[in-house]
Amino acid sequence: MINHRELELLKAALDTLAEGYRELPDFSPELDPETAGRVIDEVARRMRDNYPYHHPLYAGQMLKPPHPVARIAYALSLWVNPNNHALDGGRASSALEIECIGALGQMFGWRAPLGHLTGGGTMANLEALWVAGRLHPGKRIVASTEAHYTHRRLCEVLGLPFAAVGTDSDGRMDVGELGRLLAEGNVGSVVATMGTTGSGAVDRLPRILELARAHDVRVHADAAYGGYFTLASLLDAETRASFDALSEVDSIVVDPHKHGLQPYGCGCVLFRDPTVGRFYRHDSPYTYFSSAELHLGEISLECSRPGAAAVALWATQQLLPYERDGAFSRMLDDCLQAARDFHARLEGGDRFLPMSAPELDIVVYAVRADRTSTAGNLARRVFDAAASEGLHLALIDLPADRVRARHPDLVADTETVTCLRSVLMKPEHRDWVERIAAILENLALN
Ligand SMILES: *Cc1c(COP(=O)(O)O)cnc(C)c1O
Repeated sequence: MINHRELELLKAALDTLAEGYRELPDFSPELDPETAGRVIDEVARRMRDNYPYHHPLYAGQMLKPPHPVARIAYALSLWVNPNNHALDGGRASSALEIECIGALGQMFGWRAPLGHLTGGGTMANLEALWVAGRLHPGKRIVASTEAHYTHRRLCEVLGLPFAAVGTDSDGRMDVGELGRLLAEGNVGSVVATMGTTGSGAVDRLPRILELARAHDVRVHADAAYGGYFTLASLLDAETRASFDALSEVDSIVVDPHKHGLQPYGCGCVLFRDPTVGRFYRHDSPYTYFSSAELHLGEISLECSRPGAAAVALWATQQLLPYERDGAFSRMLDDCLQAARDFHARLEGGDRFLPMSAPELDIVVYAVRADRTSTAGNLARRVFDAAASEGLHLALIDLPADRVRARHPDLVADTETVTCLRSVLMKPEHRDWVERIAAILENLALN
């Protein structure tokens, strides 16, 4: 779990940092190593009560370990503890954040978007929907039933009407239904999900854009989980076409803390038209905007934000630039390949009923049974039995109709079916899926 070279790198970097403040009279905070040591040891003991998220045998929820460089850069910046609200609180880290935003914008084909980092995808989507509401007051926000659950709730927070559109059996927005809803009118923005959180389905963006344009409606892309896959080379043709259309949407959310190798606390919102910055204008008497240069707090809803998040992201981008066919994109391809191999292996066996082939790196699979109720009970037993073998999975409830569309022999005696779900978002999963599948196939359920 621990590579001690990381700690050596951090120590050397802290010396370099301290050198920059050498002119000041000596001052260092007091610390009683004995009491502090006792507390920290207790923290370490308490922290053992976690699933092994960093290990390839964790093949459950959407959790990915940060890159060591991100971890070191984040920790290093805590000795300064910059606040990216204002240049006065974090001059260096604000400059790094602006460079990070440039790289994220460029990844989607945007040269000068307005954007900034946020606490996460939910805050980033809140800002995107807030701008949507400012541009089209009172008009509906539309997202699919498989979109992230927070869109509906954020609309409640913002006082905007929300409407959900159904999906096809692969979990993508039903564009026929979207067309009918748009024809009814009173829609301001459509949210296209570029990789659903449940199954990794990518909404058909070219078709959504076409419909939205015909009705003069904006499009927001929620690419919190899937955005980085635009750099991958193994996408199937339809998925590729959807990612290629991203440069035409009005706003994008992407979470560096999902596939961008960052610690939690790093989302991002980007707007194609930088003039939406006008909505953010405020002149609070407490803020400390002391220069005419742009302070990130002038274009963000959150006030204090960790400069550390920008420092970590910037460091990771230097090591692993956002290039097609670069080391970073190969890591994404490894995840795609892991999911495909795992899906194929389950499909070839007789114990599971996999859902459609993965578009990204999430595989959803029911346990083979006669009835949906039995399949659900077995899924929960597989989940527990796998955990006792050190293999950690996740569960997801799907509408029985959706599972039966692929496995019509399954008799529906419940409305939903509890299935297993594996997010294979560590590149190492590529080398581990055979082993993971073997554990699953040999599980003894009692
Ligand atoms: C994770 C996710 C979110 C929410 O982001 P947080 O960073 O968890 O707040 C929103 N949309 C999608 C598609 C996601 O996968």
